[in-house]
Amino acid sequence: MKRVYNFSAGPAVLPVEVLKEAAEEMLDYKGTGMSVMEMSHRSKAFEEIITEAEKDLRELMNIPDNYKVLFLQGGASQQFAMIPMNLMKNKVADYIITGQWAKKAAAEAEKYGKVNRIASSADKTFSYIPDCSDLPISEDADYVYICENNTIYGTKFHELPNTKGKLLVADVSSCFLSEPVDVTKYGIIYGGVQKNIGPAGTVIVIIREDLITEDVLPGTPTMLQYKIHADAKSLYNTPPAYGIYICGKVFKWIKNMGGLEAMKERNEKKAKLLYDFLDQSKLFKGTVEKKDRSLMNVPFVTGNEELDAKFVKEAKAAGFENLKGHRTVGGMRASIYNAMPYEGVEALVAFMKEFEEANA
Ligand SMILES: *Cc1c(COP(=O)(O)O)cnc(C)c1O
Repeated sequence: MKRVYNFSAGPAVLPVEVLKEAAEEMLDYKGTGMSVMEMSHRSKAFEEIITEAEKDLRELMNIPDNYKVLFLQGGASQQFAMIPMNLMKNKVADYIITGQWAKKAAAEAEKYGKVNRIASSADKTFSYIPDCSDLPISEDADYVYICENNTIYGTKFHELPNTKGKLLVADVSSCFLSEPVDVTKYGIIYGGVQKNIGPAGTVIVIIREDLITEDVLPGTPTMLQYKIHADAKSLYNTPPAYGIYICGKVFKWIKNMGGLEAMKERNEKKAKLLYDFLDQSKLFKGTVEKKDRSLMNVPFVTGNEELDAKFVKEAKAAGFENLKGHRTVGGMRASIYNAMPYEGVEALVAFMKEFEEANA
């Protein structure tokens, strides 16, 4: 068996220990004689899986009791609609545009109310995070929306915006569980799990209890109401059961590694190795303002498209997969999520050095 170093932005690398455990339990989950894929979501075995997953996530993120944890479907993109449908009481929201995902979320919200784009980094191809210390927050805004880590452009809010008392809603798809977070600063934290936690198909929504009401926009489908899912403990209909099971295993893996403090340390060490190399390289360079660099997604270029393509091709042949940058940015992007080992980044940097020498 051969495993590659997978730098995909998502679906992305998962811990090998988790995959092995899942393989061992594939045919007979803990004496049930069946796979988790084959069991009722109302069974005792599955009830234990989802209860334990929530408990471990709460412990990892230190989630206060007045927040609910929901395991939903529809991808992060479905939240682009679900959030305004449930939160737009005044039909106004403020969006900070730091990339494609925030842009898409704003465009979707616009179907349901007035969207104010109160800041943007579009002027420099989203290569930085705008100053959000004193934004023109709308008086009647129902919430302020950010995409906290910009998967495509490789930027991250290292400081949350000053929302002047308004509710903060954050898409954390690509930085979920990468470092400690103060949940109390948010109304909603959500993310698709396929970047840093588990298989595609599960979305985790952490939502403050007082935001879960029956007072939603007229016509909101049952399946898009937070209250329906919260009241049913994420079991209103069949949940993404296998995905939840894998997420649960990843939560345990992170706990065993020392929790989110340890993850942060590990991620900083990995990212530093790559950024330090980029900063001194004569061939490669990072595309993001240093202060706003993401620990998870690292875009870089040579400045020559043909050379970029050559690099991606030779890297692939050497066992480094999915280094091609997003189609809207070009160049390369290394996503170095929680499960990417230090050795993977070390090997990549060594390969980049060799390529640099060969193509000087
Ligand atoms: C990948 C991604 C999305 C879209 O996720 P889907 O689950 O495919 O809808 C949204 N936001 C961010 C930050 C992402 O990285």
